[in-house]
Amino acid sequence: MRSADVIIVGGGPAGSSCAWRLRRLGVDCLILDKETFPRPKLCAGWITPEVVQDLELDTGDYPHRFLSFKKLLFHFRYGGLRPRTLQHSIRRYEFDDWLLRRCGAPVETHEVRSIRKDGDDYILDEQYRCRYLVGAGGTRCPVYRNLFRTASPRARKKQVVTLEQEFPYDYRDERCHLWFFDQGLPGYSWYVPKADGYINIGIGGFVTRLRQQGTDIKTHWDHLAQKLERKKLVQGHHWEPKGYSYYVRGKQPLCRIDNAFISGDAAGLATKDMAEGIGPAVRSGLLAAAAIAQGTPYDFSSIGRRSFEPRQLLLSALLPRPYRPGKQGKNTL
Ligand SMILES: Cc1cc2nc3c(=O)[nH]c(=O)nc-3n(C[C@H](O)[C@H](O)[C@H](O)COP(=O)(O)OP(=O)(O)OC[C@H]3O[C@@H](n4cnc5c(N)ncnc54)[C@H](O)[C@@H]3O)c2cc1C
Repeated sequence: MRSADVIIVGGGPAGSSCAWRLRRLGVDCLILDKETFPRPKLCAGWITPEVVQDLELDTGDYPHRFLSFKKLLFHFRYGGLRPRTLQHSIRRYEFDDWLLRRCGAPVETHEVRSIRKDGDDYILDEQYRCRYLVGAGGTRCPVYRNLFRTASPRARKKQVVTLEQEFPYDYRDERCHLWFFDQGLPGYSWYVPKADGYINIGIGGFVTRLRQQGTDIKTHWDHLAQKLERKKLVQGHHWEPKGYSYYVRGKQPLCRIDNAFISGDAAGLATKDMAEGIGPAVRSGLLAAAAIAQGTPYDFSSIGRRSFEPRQLLLSALLPRPYRPGKQGKNTL
């Protein structure tokens, strides 16, 4: 049986950030992921300045596609808002692989199915043993399913459903567009350019509200595709969007049971206004590592529930000063 002090299930941003910090603190850890990296990950790939800061990312040295936006274009039914801000786009296919390599932890391709306790240890699939276990396996994380689900069920009304497609495209408009509540969508759709001729188009909304409206995400997708064509943003493209579902932040989710920790999408940490989950995943991974290595408390109180504070956002659109994040920016790790 393979043993490690810490086993991290999932090598996405939550898992690799946790391993990165554990390794720096001299803790032996192993990452298990069911996919071999680089792997596709459905995601618009928008990252905030807090992500860059938490990951100590030297953007000049980052070897893959990285594009910065000094403004975002928020479109509403009767107008728009152009907050000055500094946000970035990456491709998750590249970014996650780079983070995983950088963390320096051993990684094994293995789909975790069963987890049981054996004294103070955790046994995974009768093949792996550890003293500390970190669940960073996204929405369908087996650590969540096996150990946390009963004690901390996810609220259905916090579930979002998405459709998206990322592809090489010779775009003409290199700004980032976001359309809110279009055609009654309980969510928003996006056009996110990447550096060097890639683009990500997507749409997301709350599942229960779509049901209440008697509509579905595919209908909204069709509308989005027509709009992009009409606005000449993406023309003549053969659409083959793929879907994924995850949860935004609800009431304080359970984050630790004994020596098992849960982080990122597995804990349902994406922000409730924008469903931005990379930042919360990174930060929760780093916090879990500190809790394991240094005995600091593990909770999500320092992880922002919102991506934007509406008042600040409005001011940054009206006044000549960039948007500065509120709660998230004040966090310390
Ligand atoms: C369409 C879409 C667009 C999005 N856009 C953005 C955005 O622009 N910005 C943003 O901040 N957030 C965005 N998000 C949310 C963001 O993608 C997630 O919140 C983020 O990826 C969470 O990171 P994570 O590490 O928790 O999980 P993941 O990135 O999902 O990583 C989980 C890993 O666990 C592995 N795994 C799963 N099950 C097992 C198992 N049984 N055994 C072993 N390994 C397993 C998976 O293979 C995967 O590699 C978007 C999400 C979607 C669906």
